[in-house]
Amino acid sequence: MAGIYIHIPFCRKACHYCNFHFSTSLKYKEEMMEAMLKEIALQKDYLNSASIETVYFGGGTPSVLSSPDINQLFEVLLKYHIISPNAEITLEANPDDLTKDYLKQLLQTPINRLSIGIQSFFEAELVDMNRSHSASQAISCIEDAQALGFHNLSIDLIYGSPKSSMATWQHNLQQIFDYQIPHISCYALTVEPNTALAHFVKTGQSPEPDNALMAQQLEYLMQTMEAQGYEHYEISNFAKPGKYAKHNTAYWKQKPYLGLGPSAHSFDGTTRSWNIANNAKYLEALTKNELPNQSEVLSVIDQYNEYIMTGLRTQWGVNNKEIQSIALPFYRHFKLNIQSYIEEQKVIKKNDNYSLTPSGKLIADRIISDLFWVS
Ligand code: SF4
Repeated sequence: MAGIYIHIPFCRKACHYCNFHFSTSLKYKEEMMEAMLKEIALQKDYLNSASIETVYFGGGTPSVLSSPDINQLFEVLLKYHIISPNAEITLEANPDDLTKDYLKQLLQTPINRLSIGIQSFFEAELVDMNRSHSASQAISCIEDAQALGFHNLSIDLIYGSPKSSMATWQHNLQQIFDYQIPHISCYALTVEPNTALAHFVKTGQSPEPDNALMAQQLEYLMQTMEAQGYEHYEISNFAKPGKYAKHNTAYWKQKPYLGLGPSAHSFDGTTRSWNIANNAKYLEALTKNELPNQSEVLSVIDQYNEYIMTGLRTQWGVNNKEIQSIALPFYRHFKLNIQSYIEEQKVIKKNDNYSLTPSGKLIADRIISDLFWVS
C-alpha cells in the first residue's frame, strides 16, 4: 500500500501566514505540467509496483488546475502505477475556484474528495490573512459542492488570528456542524519566519498571537468536536467515524509515498527524499531529464524521533514493541521520560500502547520534545 502526492506550486494570492512553496505567477503553468508528467515517468519505479491507495493533489493551490490538467496527470499516473479502484483521490481547493462550473468539471475527473481551504467564515479574518476568497464564497462552495454530489469534504480552519474571538470561533465551528462536514483540520495561526505575517508582527502592524485565546479556542474545539461525534484522531484533525483522511493517516503510519512536483517529499520506508523548492530550477532539471531531488537514509535516531513525533500526535499513539524494534536504548529513554506524564494523566497507557489524553494534547509539543533522543 502506498500513496502519491502531487504538489501544485501556484497560488492566486500569498496568504500572509504561509510558508509553503508556491508562486503567485501562473505564467509557467503549462511548462510545469510538462515537467511533472516527465517526473512521473522518471519516478515510475520508486514505489516498487505497490498498489496506490491514495492520490493527493496538494499545494500551493491545486484548484488552479483545469479538469483536463487533472485528467492528464492521472492518465500518466495510471500508465505507471496500479491505482486501487477504491483509492481516495483528494484535491485541495480554494473556495474562489470552486464555482459551480468548476465543480461540474471536477465530476469529469477521478477526484472523489475535496479538502477546502476555508480558514474562516468571517470577512475580516479572511482579509486580514490575505485569503483570495470571500466569506460568501466560503459558504457557496460548500453548498454547491454538496448539491453536485461531493460529500467527502474536509475543511481547513485557522484559530488564533488577531481578528478572531471566542464568538467568531464558535460560529466557524457551527458552520461545520450545520453543513455536516465529515472531516476538519484545524491549525493555530503560527508566525513562521520569512512570511508577511512575521514582518507585520516585527514592525508592530500586527499583534503577537494571543496564546491565552488560542488555548481557549483549542479547548473549546476539542470539547465541541467530541460532543458532535467527531473523533480527534490526530492533533489537528477531526473526523466522523470512518472518515479519516486515508492519505495523511498513511503518512502518520509511516507508509511509503512518492511526492511529485517542486518541494514534494518522498519516503520509501528507509530513505527520505525531497525535490528542490524552486520552480525555475525544477523546470530546468526536468528539461534535462534529471530528477531535482536530494535524499538521506534515516538514521536510527531519526527513525525513533519520527515515530514518536508522528505516532503520539495520533489517537493510535506509539507502541512498546515498535520502539524496541528500533533500538533498545531508545526504549529505555522513552520509558524513563514518559513516566511523569502518565502520572500527571497527560499520557495514557493501554496494553502496549501510549497515547495523549485530552490535557496531554494541549501540551503535545512539550511531551514529544521531552521524549526525543538528542545525540
Ligand atoms: S492558498 Fe494555501 S498554499 Fe497558497 S498562500 Fe494561501 S495558505 Fe499558502
